[in-house]
Formats: sequence, C-alpha cells, structure tokens
Amino acid sequence: MFDIHEIRSQFTILNQQVNGKPLVYLDNAATSQKPNSVLEVWTQYYTEINANVHRGIHTLSQLATEEMELSRRKIQKFINAKHDFEVIFTKGTTEGLNLIAYILTQKLKKDDEIIISYLEHHSNIVPWQMLCERTGAKLRVIPIDENGILQLDYLDQYLSEKTKVVSVNQVSNALGVVNPIEEIIAKTRKNSDAYIVIDGAQSAPHFTIDVQKMDCDFFVFSGHKMYAPMGTGILYGKQEILEDLPPFHGGGEMIATCSFDGTTYAGLPFKYEAGTPNVGGNIALGAAVDFIEKIGHSTIQNHENALLEYAQRQLLEIENLKVYGEKANRTGVVSFNLEGTGISSDVGMILDKMGIAVRTGHHCTQPIMDFFNIAGTVRASFAIYNTFEEIDLLVEGVKKAQRMLS
Ligand SMILES: *Cc1c(COP(=O)(O)O)cnc(C)c1O
Repeated sequence: MFDIHEIRSQFTILNQQVNGKPLVYLDNAATSQKPNSVLEVWTQYYTEINANVHRGIHTLSQLATEEMELSRRKIQKFINAKHDFEVIFTKGTTEGLNLIAYILTQKLKKDDEIIISYLEHHSNIVPWQMLCERTGAKLRVIPIDENGILQLDYLDQYLSEKTKVVSVNQVSNALGVVNPIEEIIAKTRKNSDAYIVIDGAQSAPHFTIDVQKMDCDFFVFSGHKMYAPMGTGILYGKQEILEDLPPFHGGGEMIATCSFDGTTYAGLPFKYEAGTPNVGGNIALGAAVDFIEKIGHSTIQNHENALLEYAQRQLLEIENLKVYGEKANRTGVVSFNLEGTGISSDVGMILDKMGIAVRTGHHCTQPIMDFFNIAGTVRASFAIYNTFEEIDLLVEGVKKAQRMLS
C-alpha cells in the first residue's frame, strides 16, 4: 500500500505556505515537483563528481560518464527501447521535436505531407511548419469533435504515399484526453511509409511506455514533467532510422574524426549529443525513473485517476461550469471554465490567493482554444503527491471565484 504522507514527505517544497495558505500544487502538467532523492543525486553530482563526460581519463570524468550511461540504461528500460544507444539526452520535448523535424529535412520534398492533430502542443506544430517552409511540404491536421476526440476517419483520408511524417501526442496537455495512438500507428503503417513521431510529454509521467510494442519511430518526452530537473528530456529513435539520418548540432562529442578535409560522425547516441550535456540533470533523470518505478506505474495511475474522477465529479456539480474534453478516457488533467464570469486568469488569480496553483490560459495549444472559441481554460493537473483534501480546497476555491466574479 502506498502512503501518501510518506510520499509527500519526500517533497520539501510542498510543505510551505503561499499567500498565507498551505501550498496546493495542481500545475503538474506544466512541471512536476522533484523528490528529495532526485535533488540529492543532483547535488551529489555537483558536490562530489562534477567533471565532463566521455573526455577525460581522470577518475571524476570516468565516474561522471559511468553515472550518465547508467542513467541512459535506466531510461532504456523505462521505455523498453531495444538498445541503450537509441536513447538520446535532450533539453526536453521541444528540443526533441525540433531535432526530428530538422534531421528529416532531406527526406521531404515539395507537396509531401505531414500529418499532425488539432490537439498538439505548439512544440508539435511549429517545428513542422518550419519544415514545410524549408521543403514545400504541406501540413494536414486531424480534426477533433466537441469532446476533444480525434476524428480518425480524416486520418484515413489523409494517409497516402505523400505522407512522410505523422506526429501526434499520446495525451493532450490542454485537455488530458488520451489519444488512440495504437490505432493511429497501425493505420499509418498500413497506408504509408511515414515516420511516426509520438509526443510523450504528458504520458511518460503517468503510463508504462513500451516503444517496441508501440512501434513508433520516435518518442520524445521531458524530464521536468516526471519528477526530474528542468533542462532534461529524452529522444528515442529506432536504431536504423537514427543511423540513416544526418546529425542535428555539429560540435564536440559528435565526431569520429574532424579535419578541414572533412569530418566523420560518431556513432549513436553521441552523433546526436553535440557539446557538453546536462550531466547532473541527466543523472538525476535516472533517479526520477527510480522514484517512479519504486512506487509503480499502476499505483501512480490508480491514484491519479481517483483524484481526477473525484475532482471532475465535484466540479461538474457546480452550475455553469464546463469541463472540456471527453470524461471517460482522460488522464491527469481537468480543464474547465466558469461560464459567464470572464476570463480564466481571473479564476486563477483568486485560487492563487488561496495558495492553489493551477494553470490558466491557452496552455500552448491555441488551435484547441480556437476550436472551442475560448481564450483559455483553468487547468488543474495531478501528480502522485496530490491528495483528496487538496481537491476539496480546489472545488471550494472555484466556488468562491464564481461568487466573486459573477
Ligand atoms: C510540455 C509539453 C511539451 C513541451 O515540453 P517542454 O518541456 O516545454 O519542451 C510538448 N508537448 C506536450 C504535450 C507538453 O505537455
């Protein structure tokens, strides 16, 4: 059995007052808090090891290299990649998606097509628009219905020999809707030779990830949304694909030989890790994986789903409160508005005065907001350390905001 008080005791930051009230942190889809075990590994790296990796033969450099490679193997297991060298350290999901869009440039030509969805974060939209500008390719967007569900018959229509990339998220950060990526991947494989990219920023913190079973070509996520430090992230790519594609950044660490007559590139994963990496952060990401695995994915999912259902049930009892996205197949996020009380940020400000941290606005998903014809939503998002008492405080706060704003 998991003990929520024991879990919370591992997060010093939660034990504080904000605006004179105990902090209720419900902005986990923007970034999660970090447990002491992760912070200790990070501090230990800088107090005892700090040295550059893969470069020196001196003891600390070797230790730093060993620790970072050990972390890579933990992440390999965490996502069930076939090889550890298919796991590339990045700054986060945004960098991962930009990297992929950049290295695919030579593979696309005028009038080829890239399929994404209405539910994407800006970081899974803009890099593809930039790729279209470079190549003359076109973007096609799978629409959603009123419940935020992808209309997959459009995917059937769009898929053709022109389709070169299909890139979708597994879970929407704005609505929490879980997308049918198994079906999307199966349809794509059957009807095209497209590269399949999955944005796992909102799924990696909550679900068991198995990239081999999923059969995606790329899978990207951020460390900071799954209990690891900011500035960490992972790009997974299939070996044969990463070996076939060109490098992204040029510089130190990514070469085999370098001369003015020409340069040859290092093998995986170093070909995609130019320059000095975030060694301490990357090692701490391994500690975050340990933290998640110690609690267990099923425990995490059960608790977060219970919180979500509890929050949703109570929020829906509030008159004139609209929850966006379908109710059944969601994870970790409840996105809503109080109708007739103006903008979401007013609600957010009132909640903040009560010590409750939520996100308001468009959540880097303006197309979704345009679809619902709103400027933004109030989004509460959950992690393993959140409690039912915190949901009660949220609901009380929302009711108070409604009284104050109407
Ligand atoms: C947060 C997020 C991103 C961007 O991640 P960064 O850590 O800001 O790079 C991309 N996609 C989704 C679904 C997200 O939630």
